[in-house]
Amino acid sequence: MQITKIVGREILDSRGMWTIEVTVFAGTYVGIASVPCGKSVGTGEAFVLRDTNGHMKHALQKIILLDKHLRGYSIFDQKIVDSAMIALDGTEDKHRFGENTLLAVSLAVARCAASVSRKELFQYLKRGSELPVPFANVINGGLHAGNGLKVQEFHIVPYKARSFTQAVCYVQDIYEELGIYLKKKYGAAATLVGDEGGYAPCLKKTTDVLDILVKVLDSLHLSHHVGLALDVAANSFYQKGVYHFEKKMTSSQLSQYYYSLIDQYSLLSLEDPFAETDYAAWKSFSPRKVQVIGDDLLVTHLEKVQHAYRERWCSAVLVKPNQVGTLTETFDVMQFARKHSFGCMVSHRSGETNDTFIADLSVGCGQIKLGPPCRGERVAKYNRLLEIQSFLGKRATYAKVLR
Ligand code: PGA
Ligand code: ZN
Repeated sequence: MQITKIVGREILDSRGMWTIEVTVFAGTYVGIASVPCGKSVGTGEAFVLRDTNGHMKHALQKIILLDKHLRGYSIFDQKIVDSAMIALDGTEDKHRFGENTLLAVSLAVARCAASVSRKELFQYLKRGSELPVPFANVINGGLHAGNGLKVQEFHIVPYKARSFTQAVCYVQDIYEELGIYLKKKYGAAATLVGDEGGYAPCLKKTTDVLDILVKVLDSLHLSHHVGLALDVAANSFYQKGVYHFEKKMTSSQLSQYYYSLIDQYSLLSLEDPFAETDYAAWKSFSPRKVQVIGDDLLVTHLEKVQHAYRERWCSAVLVKPNQVGTLTETFDVMQFARKHSFGCMVSHRSGETNDTFIADLSVGCGQIKLGPPCRGERVAKYNRLLEIQSFLGKRATYAKVLR
């Protein structure tokens, strides 16, 4: 079964910015995929090809070239198709074609192949039957909100739920109760949401938010079932060796601060606690029993993940397919993580589409970061995972990470 046509079009993402959607045809079979876009980006991320006026006309021209070049390739040869696109681009950071162009085609090829094989996408991708633990970003700060919170994301983590359904029920109950609490205490404006659907109250201090989350978990008797985690996204407040956090801090002061937060709030996981270039801080930070995730540090690039693993900079990788630009390269990172018992969390971006590819990809990898059940583009991922779970029926299990 061969690729017979590739067509691209402009669509809007959840921030109202232009992105692309691609349809890959194999005869009468089709696969459609669209790509998200980040705002808090690591410098090592692959290049997004965007016109100066925000449109995707150049990217669409590249898709016309890819259509010419890839017709006749087998829809099942994902690796070969991805390698051909990488070779055609020929640059380190996918500068000529843009990761957005390559990834949309790459994902649509996989979708089309799944459809030809009459398989669900996660089955075609051989992801197994284990549903991931959702990391739900219920409070937004940093670059994703205008509230002055330095920490970008505050997550609730239903890691002790018995099933994915129960995990979603916990998340949904907590999100609702948190909204009621914020409205009562700070007024209705405190329940307006940020880019990823979490509330964005005008609070300044990290511990104020964590105290509220602890209160809400206690009031629902969920503190033994649901833990807390942060994506600090420390790049956003690091300048010339200094962290402009709630007050100015050195790396070692910031480390000490994290140790105290971990003790006080039993944090399960910390993402990007340090800037992507502050390697010494990553190396000397070693909290016990806490997952330390590299996002901007690793940008889903295999060599960076391998290096970080060897140097013990962190214990897990955040996987965002559009940081690297093809499904094959994304899989390489996930496979390395699995082989070396390195943690792995598939993640949405702040500018999302309704595409649910990452939900299928997250099956079998243990963890997914997907926002709270608010805003259609986030809800779509929950609903796809619920659909996968019901498709699997009794075979569905729930990941046992961070226990
Ligand atoms: P982004 O943020 O999608 O805006 O890059 C997400 C993150 O930092 O994890
Ligand atoms: Zn991050």
